[in-house]
Amino acid sequence: MIKLIVGNWKLYIKSLEEGKKLLKAIDKKMPRGVKTTVVVCPPVALAAALRREYKGKRIAFGTQDTFWETDGAFTGQVSATHLASAGISYVLVGHSERRALGDTDEMVAKKAVSALSAKLHPIICVGETERDQDGKFFSTIEKSVKASLSRIEPKDAGKFTVAYEPVWAIGKTEAASPRVAAEAILYIRKTIADMWGREKAMKVRIIYGASVDAENAALFKEEKSIHGLLPGRASTDAEEFTNIIRAFS
Ligand code: PEP
Repeated sequence: MIKLIVGNWKLYIKSLEEGKKLLKAIDKKMPRGVKTTVVVCPPVALAAALRREYKGKRIAFGTQDTFWETDGAFTGQVSATHLASAGISYVLVGHSERRALGDTDEMVAKKAVSALSAKLHPIICVGETERDQDGKFFSTIEKSVKASLSRIEPKDAGKFTVAYEPVWAIGKTEAASPRVAAEAILYIRKTIADMWGREKAMKVRIIYGASVDAENAALFKEEKSIHGLLPGRASTDAEEFTNIIRAFS
């Protein structure tokens, strides 16, 4: 399975000029000859403009959210077909910072399937907000995976990615340990296998996100069940982001 590294720029990049500078620096510093797919997800207005200007081939573009409808009276929304027509190929759905603003698993499921219909590759984010001694967080993850994937057909197993993002580790100084991440990822795969069977479940790429940096990327690489990384803050520093790519590839 081809590895995937996705940089979520969140709202950290303040202008198109800043975005251009960052993209240029990433492109220049990117290691040559790696097979890993590299995606950057700038804020939507910047993503469209940067995509239009980018002449390279090594970086793909995503955005941080989409809406599930494609037509009608929905002021302010951006549909998956808009994104696709602007040359965007990936989209995060269900990021915990969107869920904190009201996105439910049902909304995430509708966004994911709408992205697939527009031929985008959705990256569906799931993860528990906190851990407990009794392991109840596993059932939180299971419920969220089942509901967020509920509208996707098993035949599309290879066309999307699940990002395991433990909310308690996002934006912190320390990531979840590779063992903790790998254990949750195995559980997510088992959950998908319960839904669709093992063969289909093995086709789903599952990546880890939350406080990824160049140092821990090398440790995550050792866990073969982790097929990619989703750094946030670290992806807005070209040196750190390209070192993550180097370390994980
Ligand atoms: C994220 O929110 O997707 C994320 C991984 O953020 P950070 O790397 O900054 O923890």
